[in-house]
This record gives sequence, C-alpha cells and structure tokens, in this order.
Amino acid sequence: MISKSLWQAFLWTIFPPRCLVCNTYYAWQGPDGKGAPNEPSDLTAPSFCESCRKDLAPIDSPLCSKCGLPFVSREGENHTCSECLIETKHFGRARAFGVYDGALMEAIHRFKYGKKSALSHPLSALARETFFRFWAAADIDLFVPVPLHIKRLRERGFNQSHLLITRWAKQGQIPYDGLTLSRVRWTEPQTTLSRTDRRKNIKGAFSIRHPEKIEGRKILLVDDVYTTGATVNECARVLVGAGAKFVDVLTLARAV
Ligand SMILES: [Zn+2]
Ligand SMILES: [Zn+2]
Repeated sequence: MISKSLWQAFLWTIFPPRCLVCNTYYAWQGPDGKGAPNEPSDLTAPSFCESCRKDLAPIDSPLCSKCGLPFVSREGENHTCSECLIETKHFGRARAFGVYDGALMEAIHRFKYGKKSALSHPLSALARETFFRFWAAADIDLFVPVPLHIKRLRERGFNQSHLLITRWAKQGQIPYDGLTLSRVRWTEPQTTLSRTDRRKNIKGAFSIRHPEKIEGRKILLVDDVYTTGATVNECARVLVGAGAKFVDVLTLARAV
C-alpha cells in the first residue's frame, strides 16, 4: 500500500504545485528536514513557493509591549510606543505574525478579496503558531473573531477572522464564540481614512448580544490585519464594558 505522502509526492512531480500567492509553478520536494519544524516556511509549504515563503518574516522583539508595533531599531527591550502612551487602549496586548507587506499582504488580499479559500489552511497555521508563540492555552478562555456586518458577510460569503481560528481552536479545546459580539452598524471601509476618522467611523459599530457569555472571560480577539488598531480597540472597549476580564488581540499581520 502506497503511503499518502508518497502518493502526494508522486502527484507533485507530474503536476507541480502552484503558489497560491504569486501563481508560479514550482518544484516541491516535500519536507527536507532542514530548519526547525513549525517555521513559517514549513507551515506554508506547499501552498507558497520558496520565494514567497522566504518573504514571510515573523515580527520579533523589540516591539511595543502594548500594540505589538516592531521598532525600527533592532536593539533593546520591548517597551510602550509613543502612540500607546497617548491613546487609551482597551486591550491588554496585541500581537501579530508578521508585517503587512510583501507575500503576507498579497496572501491576505487573495484570501479576502480573491476568495482563495485554499489560503485559509496556511494562513490559519500561521495564526495558530503566533498564538502559541505569545500565549499558552490556559491564558485564554474564549476566542472571539472581529465580526463583519451582515451586508459584508453576504458580499464576501465568509468571515476571514473566523476561518483563521476555527479549525485549531476546536483542537486546542478553547471555546470559540462568533455570535455574541456583533457588528450592528454598517461602516464604510476604513482604508482611505485617517487615524482620527477611523476611530470616529468605527465608534458604536459593535454590540454584545449576551453579556453573560463575556463576563469574567479572558478573551482573545482575532482579526486579519492590525492597521491603526481602531477596530480591535473599539471591539475591546465593548467587550471590557460587558465585563470581560481582559481582551488580548491576535492578528495575522501588522501594518507599520
Ligand atoms: Zn510564490
Ligand atoms: Zn504601541
């Protein structure tokens, strides 16, 4: 009986895999034993070609201990960035896999707007690795995705934040709640807005259906990209207002 991985390797020699990010065909030889397991290059293989895999760079210290912003200077310890000293953040800490740039940015775009659902596998593997890099399972007792407005959900057909966590949250036995926090007000896309306008635009957009499900819980809020943090901060404000013990934030990418 031929093993599944051998069969897959055989298929790849006839039909080389195509990179989900840049569309090039490439020769995938299977795991070669090089590098530590769980490196981004392993997690995204064979969905990403070698060049796109190399382009993925996890965010490392020194970074803002609050919002996770990586500092330009690669020297020194984590500390609070100037923006977090001025602006109230309702979440405890936000952490991301990598900088919103290059192959990671392209992968997220294709996943969200190009409806490349196959990307949910490698991207959720990166989200999982990021979670265990910064938290232990015991630190969190509820995963909450940033919700989409029903109109946006119908347009897109899926909530990308939901797909980033559902598969492995269940395996890790951490409860997941995609219903209690809801987006009750339609907001225009934030992409063209300034930092201040983003904050105004998102204010009052979220509400909690059953506060008893939130009360006393240690929540991890999940989104695909942290841009100015206005969206996750507003979600965190509402969750803490409903009695959450704390709210931390996990995103795949961090704009710098
Ligand atoms: Zn590629
Ligand atoms: Zn900060």
